[in-house]
Amino acid sequence: FELGTAALQLAVQAALQPGDEVLVPSLTYVASFQAISAAGAIPVACEVREADALLDLADAAQRITPRTRALMPVHYASYSGDLDAVHEFAQRHRLRVIADAAHAFGCTHRGRKIGSFGDVSCFSFDGIKNITCGEGGAVVSADAELIAKVRDLRMLGVERDTEKRYQRQRSWEFEVAEQGWRYH
Ligand SMILES: *Cc1c(COP(=O)(O)O)cnc(C)c1O
Repeated sequence: FELGTAALQLAVQAALQPGDEVLVPSLTYVASFQAISAAGAIPVACEVREADALLDLADAAQRITPRTRALMPVHYASYSGDLDAVHEFAQRHRLRVIADAAHAFGCTHRGRKIGSFGDVSCFSFDGIKNITCGEGGAVVSADAELIAKVRDLRMLGVERDTEKRYQRQRSWEFEVAEQGWRYH
């Protein structure tokens, strides 16, 4: 995709429904919030911990409502903190974890690469990030259904057109189930 912001937006749209609430730390770039709202979901700002500036789960717990569906931890300054606690929290409250890993490409957590475990991770390859391609972003997940949906959403929602284009084909009959985007 063109941008880390686009990656986050598509991950939220693929995983959630409009009106769903997403817990997000208040110390982050504005892109985390705007990606959530662009997907029709509602960002809910949470406190960060004084010790490491990451999402405060105790504060986040108090902001859970019946519409809360996801958590967006931000690996601020490449630091992922206690991700095990984040995933435990998400499991306990039945939330998806859509990580804003814009600062964390190539970083590890307990010896494992960010993006190789957990639910969904989104990277940015903007000019000021760990590595860059000018502008760029990526969604990483083991959830094949979610990734298939992200692929469709980045090609105007045309079902399975992304795969065809990489095989030098195109759809001539378009199946479009929802709002998509033209992201690269
Ligand atoms: C840079 C950044 C983004 C968005 O990345 P872009 O590629 O610039 O769209 C998202 N979240 C955080 C925390 C960032 O620093």
